[in-house]
Amino acid sequence: MSAITQDGRCVALPSLYSQETESHRCRGAGKNVADSDAHESIANLILLSLPRATLRRLQPDLELVSTARGEVVDRADQPVNYLHFVNRGLISLVKSMEDGRTVEIGVVGIEGVTQPGTIFGISRAPLDTVVQVPGSAFRIKHGIMKDCLAKDQELREALEKYERFALLAFAQTAACNRLHHLEERCCRWLLIAHDNALSDTFQLTHEFLAMMLGVQRSGVSIAASRLQKAGLIQYRRGQVTIVNRSGLEDATCECYATMRTEFRKLFGPPKSA
Ligand SMILES: [Zn+2]
Repeated sequence: MSAITQDGRCVALPSLYSQETESHRCRGAGKNVADSDAHESIANLILLSLPRATLRRLQPDLELVSTARGEVVDRADQPVNYLHFVNRGLISLVKSMEDGRTVEIGVVGIEGVTQPGTIFGISRAPLDTVVQVPGSAFRIKHGIMKDCLAKDQELREALEKYERFALLAFAQTAACNRLHHLEERCCRWLLIAHDNALSDTFQLTHEFLAMMLGVQRSGVSIAASRLQKAGLIQYRRGQVTIVNRSGLEDATCECYATMRTEFRKLFGPPKSA
């Protein structure tokens, strides 16, 4: 499957929420925005879902930025200056507790945008947003996005659809964390990370994964070790390599496929050239 890029070229789309699983594997591997083409193609599925005229109107205000692991994009209860359409990598929504512990509530990947709710109401971030898997994003100033939304019904509808998807994803994650086995959850998260890293190898520490899954680091180490022994992943010095994607899909719970289906119901298949 392919899509139209900023400059009108046709590129292979990632497998996220599409039926394909192989097309993106080598794309962008080991590169970041700083050392890649300054005109990185649009991979964000919301941007790609927009009518061409809408995307053209937005493009002058979209700024491509690199995202570094651990970078805090927004802080809870602080004004949101930019919305980030993730183009590669993963940004996590994190709840901090009084005792300093943190739990990941949801993720924003190439299917999404950070802080969509602030466009419709209170413009302060409800949660901390932190980069989990480094990559890139097209960011746009909050005020400009608000203006664009007021003038463009299709853009507004796209953001409203994503708001619904984000709510469904939060609910699915909460249910998954409560009901499904750690190893299944670990596989689900690795599949999501794989989709969004646009590479078979990506940075991921056990500490981050533990936070994502809301468990102790030791539990994640045991689960990761089992997955490695089963030949599904390789883990080395904070880097995960997905060795057997179909094996991970077999080993995960229903939640990954459910969310993929929900996204396609809302947005349809990615645009093709
Ligand atoms: Zn699950």
